[in-house]
Amino acid sequence: MSVRAIGLLSGGLDSTLAAKMMMDQGIEVHAVHFNTGFCLTDNPDRLRQSPGDLVRHDALRAGERLGIPVEMIDIYDEYWDVLTKPKHGYGSAMNPCIDCRSKMISVARPLMEDRGAQFLFTGEVLGQRPMSQHKEAMKTIEREAGVAGFLLRPLSAKLLAPTIPEVRGWVDRARLVSYVGRTRKPQMAMARETGLEEYPSPSGGCCSLADKGFATRLQDLFAHRPGGSEERLERTEIYLLKTGRHFRISDGAKLVVARDDGENRFLHFHRRAGWRLEALDVPGPVAILTGLPSEEDLTLAASIVASYGPGRAHGLVRMGVEHGGQASELSIAPMDRAETNRLGVHRNKSRRDQTGASIQ
Ligand code: SF4
Repeated sequence: MSVRAIGLLSGGLDSTLAAKMMMDQGIEVHAVHFNTGFCLTDNPDRLRQSPGDLVRHDALRAGERLGIPVEMIDIYDEYWDVLTKPKHGYGSAMNPCIDCRSKMISVARPLMEDRGAQFLFTGEVLGQRPMSQHKEAMKTIEREAGVAGFLLRPLSAKLLAPTIPEVRGWVDRARLVSYVGRTRKPQMAMARETGLEEYPSPSGGCCSLADKGFATRLQDLFAHRPGGSEERLERTEIYLLKTGRHFRISDGAKLVVARDDGENRFLHFHRRAGWRLEALDVPGPVAILTGLPSEEDLTLAASIVASYGPGRAHGLVRMGVEHGGQASELSIAPMDRAETNRLGVHRNKSRRDQTGASIQ
């Protein structure tokens, strides 16, 4: 009998290996990737390397390497309650991991029938993530998602009770493994042995919600918008939260300042989200002032933007302002760096230091 399984694929090392293990046992794998709206892999900063770059999506690349289809499922709309009212609370930042996993797996469950699959699997590793990957949390997730017995975790299977796919002989338990904890060395060794040469950095993470800086900026946004956390954010608002340096200018206005050319291009693309600011006579970053700024807010924001780049050595910097298709300018003294730092709302991690939690 041909056996088919649905695998949750983030595109990271663990989920890719889990899929490979299933394929090596002759299982036909149908991968699904969930976009919560907060995945780093979907962050348009992947567009930033150069204007001609193609979007790099880890799950699609993993599917391509494995030669399997990857179904992309956007759960952002239904994820809002998971994010703002998690039954099981948050991890170290604003990551509602247990509720998040329950949601993804409960969305994947009906796909088993629809796609002719007999079971589900993930790349979860026991003890790798403190909130959602201990035995009790794993059982809770299975129970709440209604998949008890039908969810296999091949990388830690030998440490867990046998699942239905193992009991019924669809999967050979002897060929599964017993990885545990945060180390990725066994996974990297398995990747080498199985010829999986290319995969994203195992410590790279893929979820903004597990990043404390992002959580601070998200809470700041909730605290300064009329709808608070009750009203879903626009996607552009989330993209901006993931990008650049952030400054709380006033209750009604927030400034996002680009840190490199890619972010310059990205903020320019999203300039309609607010007031676009950029120095006119000297190089400097593109910035967007969002919200409902007063004249005073605009001046303050311009002085911050003027302080980045060679303009900070000038007495006055001529700044271009664009809003609603109208262009204007003002000359402003760059703000002192100590004062700029005081207004910062937890900087975004750069690509080099993104090390948040990842889903498997
Ligand atoms: S870290 Fe993973 S499990 Fe936790 S909230 Fe983010 S995507 Fe969900």
